[in-house]
Amino acid sequence: MQDFTYHCHTNALGIFDGRNTAEEMIARAEELGFREIGISNHLICNPHVLEIKNMNAIYFGDYNQVEDVYKRNIEDIRQAAQNHNIKVLVGFEVDYFNDPEWLRFFEKLRARLEADYYIGSSHLVYSSDYKAIIRPLCLLERPDLITDDLARNGLRNHWKNIMAAARSGYFDFIAHIDLIKNKGFCTSPEWDELKLELIETLAETKTPYELNTKGLRICNETYPSMWFIEQLARRDVPVIISDDAHSVNEIGDHFEEAESMLASVNYSVRFHL
Ligand SMILES: [Zn+2]
Ligand SMILES: [Zn+2]
Repeated sequence: MQDFTYHCHTNALGIFDGRNTAEEMIARAEELGFREIGISNHLICNPHVLEIKNMNAIYFGDYNQVEDVYKRNIEDIRQAAQNHNIKVLVGFEVDYFNDPEWLRFFEKLRARLEADYYIGSSHLVYSSDYKAIIRPLCLLERPDLITDDLARNGLRNHWKNIMAAARSGYFDFIAHIDLIKNKGFCTSPEWDELKLELIETLAETKTPYELNTKGLRICNETYPSMWFIEQLARRDVPVIISDDAHSVNEIGDHFEEAESMLASVNYSVRFHL
């Protein structure tokens, strides 16, 4: 069974959305006999996320203010690692925005942070010009925020954004590629063409993706679904199992089940940093 995780979160600085400290997460991985743990708190910064002021503290809107936060987060993890024998890596789960302004910001930031790896992710819905960015649930609950463009292209842009993240070459692997289903979006067959385009993009760029077991805790299905996994297995796209743990008791959660899913399609290409 995979004995490491690269996708988990801490509660560092009173900002990040995990429920345990780096120290506690590392100790738990050690206790489980894991050979390494990578901690990947959220890196989400974009001034065009609407309602950012009412959102969770992990969302930042000012490109000039975040470097210090992310550096302190790295320091917090490196410090905690010193008390343990297990190998500890520091990464970030980065919300990707396929927009020139954001790309300039991230390019600069990345050069200044000494992180070990980056996970590319997409949690939001985007207007075509990336000037209006909303949470998926706003499509249902906040008609006042929905422009014509968001209504028509927002979900499509969500999938296109994941493809762009894969093509960017910034990321070691891509997180929870069909996450949007957890709010009930994009589950009908009319979305298959776009999903296949994403599958082909991952295959063509040889970008690894994760089999994220958090879906089992949220919507009774892994991210991505078995349908995706079969398609990606056929194309030999490297896969890694992630727990997306936000607390110590979620580390390694459902890894056995994830292993069985991969074995059922004779998955042969696994990703490791
Ligand atoms: Zn995520
Ligand atoms: Zn996560």
